[in-house]
Amino acid sequence: MAETNDPQVQVTVIGGGIVGCAVADAVARSGMPVVLLEAESALARGTTSRNSEVVHGGMYYPAGSLKARLCVEGRRLLDEFCTAAGVGYRACGKLIVAVDHHEVPQLERLHALGLSNGMTDLRMLDAADCRAMVSDVTAVAALHSPHTGICDAEGLTQALARRAAEHGAQVMTSAPVVALEDTSAGWRVQTGAAGRRPAGSHTSDWVINAAGLYADRVADLAGKGHPRQVLVKGNYFAVAPRHAGRLDQLVYPVPPSDGSTLGVHLCLDLAGQMRLGPDMEPLSADVVPEAIDYAVDPGRLEDFLTGARRFLPWLERGDLGPGTSGVRPKLAETGFRDFVVETRPARVGGLVNLLGIDSPGLTAALALAGHVTALIDA
Ligand SMILES: Cc1cc2nc3c(=O)[nH]c(=O)nc-3n(C[C@H](O)[C@H](O)[C@H](O)COP(=O)(O)OP(=O)(O)OC[C@H]3O[C@@H](n4cnc5c(N)ncnc54)[C@H](O)[C@@H]3O)c2cc1C
Repeated sequence: MAETNDPQVQVTVIGGGIVGCAVADAVARSGMPVVLLEAESALARGTTSRNSEVVHGGMYYPAGSLKARLCVEGRRLLDEFCTAAGVGYRACGKLIVAVDHHEVPQLERLHALGLSNGMTDLRMLDAADCRAMVSDVTAVAALHSPHTGICDAEGLTQALARRAAEHGAQVMTSAPVVALEDTSAGWRVQTGAAGRRPAGSHTSDWVINAAGLYADRVADLAGKGHPRQVLVKGNYFAVAPRHAGRLDQLVYPVPPSDGSTLGVHLCLDLAGQMRLGPDMEPLSADVVPEAIDYAVDPGRLEDFLTGARRFLPWLERGDLGPGTSGVRPKLAETGFRDFVVETRPARVGGLVNLLGIDSPGLTAALALAGHVTALIDA
């Protein structure tokens, strides 16, 4: 028996970043009526538009983890979707380089991990192979991942939202969710007024919380006891355009062994421009997502230059300038933490909280969406 006269929908997705749009698309294509609510006036304004846009291979994550499984599967799905939908994507390849012999065992460990995670295309290179492939990079050995790629993350998000809408999803921007109430008719989902859109409400059997940096705050609307997120900023430095096209592969160092970061690396965009980053700058616990300062401190230049010159010796101080930044919703400042997909049963249906969706969240998004859809469609 319904407690309100609110409109009813089977599934509500909160958040219009890559993850929310991928979930709305997968749910809509499985035949369930779905509404996606995004607080901002456009999709993909959060972390989705502030990252390296790398479509990862999957050699960094512990075997059997959600990150490992969803990254490997997500890369395959993303490749297929981008090709079919005409979204910018290029499998440019990636090298993880050892600049010192003592780093080689770590490369071999990543190679073995990648193989156990289902990456069939990884190859170890010696110094001569590396020189032949990228003469401008210093390396005594490297791990080559030919199918690691780069994509247009915002274009991908928009394309997923379009496909979701074609399958009946209602996609609403300027619709910040401000309250969730567990009623006998399902979740009562309330949105606040934003832009020209008035406040509103509806009921929903299932709510999927894909609110990125705000995901623990959205989870709080329905109750406590879920993991908390910590915010860790990642800064980038732009490389002078005169070097554009000098390298056609992504180049990463051997990562720190604690698993918290991939190390400051050389990223490429689809136009061939280069940048370095991201580094790790934990934000203080009292910084709320809406108060994040995304400006990059020029004082970090020396660390970037020193780190990158180990494998890109031709870089000069004048080649680097402060670029963009993004913020990771992590579950711990250091060490490996897996994605959390937490299902909370309700009087009707339930709530699925997606917490700690940091890297490789972009790569994994389509596989994560399939995982969530299977949970609620069971
Ligand atoms: C520096 C950096 C580099 C990265 N590099 C890579 C990479 O190369 N490859 C990779 O795979 N991953 C990478 N990632 C991770 C990837 O960017 C994220 O995992 C992914 O973008 C997360 O998407 P999302 O949809 O969960 O979050 P978001 O894009 O932040 O979307 C969440 C959305 O929820 C909305 N929202 C919040 N609260 C509410 C509310 N109450 N009501 C309605 N809407 C709400 C927000 O406005 C936002 O649009 C990187 C991340 C960072 C920070």
